[in-house]
Amino acid sequence: MYEVRKRLEISAAHFLELNYPSKCSELHGHNWIIDVYLRGTELDENGMLMDFTHIKKAVTDKFDHKVINDVVDFNPTAENLARHICELLGPACFRVDVCESENNSASYIREES
Ligand SMILES: [Zn+2]
Repeated sequence: MYEVRKRLEISAAHFLELNYPSKCSELHGHNWIIDVYLRGTELDENGMLMDFTHIKKAVTDKFDHKVINDVVDFNPTAENLARHICELLGPACFRVDVCESENNSASYIREES
């Protein structure tokens, strides 16, 4: 079994639609630190699970320097972003950690099927 972790940083803005008053409902930005984890028993013909550059491109092309609400159709909480990025990267990705700040992070971990 092989496992790969890639850390990415994206600068982007978002606002949250919440059913309680919160400053997070106002447009604001974060420098998100995103850790993605991939796992697999087979490598491709290049000897990789997935090229680190391809992982970075898939995430940064979609989110870096964007208003995240404009590019997704869900409420962009850290939890929802983690799940979305995991699905974006395909079946080899089994975990994504989305860190909005040093003290606030959320993870999505794909259940074994
Ligand atoms: Zn936020």
